[in-house]
Amino acid sequence: MVFQCYLCDAAPVYLTYFCAPCTETRRILQVYGAEETRNIIKRVCVRDNAQRNYKISSELKKDIESLKNTDHKLKMIKFSKESP
Ligand SMILES: [Zn+2]
Repeated sequence: MVFQCYLCDAAPVYLTYFCAPCTETRRILQVYGAEETRNIIKRVCVRDNAQRNYKISSELKKDIESLKNTDHKLKMIKFSKESP
C-alpha cells in the first residue's frame, strides 16, 4: 500500500514514513535538534517585507548589470566586425 511522505506530503512511500530527501532532512534535524533547526529555517528561509524588497532590488541590479554587459559585448563584436 502506498502512503504519502509524512514530512513533505508529496512523495509516495512504501515501507517507511519519509521519502529519501526527507529522511536526510530528518537526520539533519536530529543532529541539530528541532529548536535549532527551526531557528535556522526561520533565519534563512523566512523573510520579512524589507528583506524581500532588498532581495528584489538586488536581483534587479544583477539583471541590469547583465544587460549592460551583454550590450557592451554586442558593441565590442560590432566594433570588431567594422574594423579591418
Ligand atoms: Zn518527503
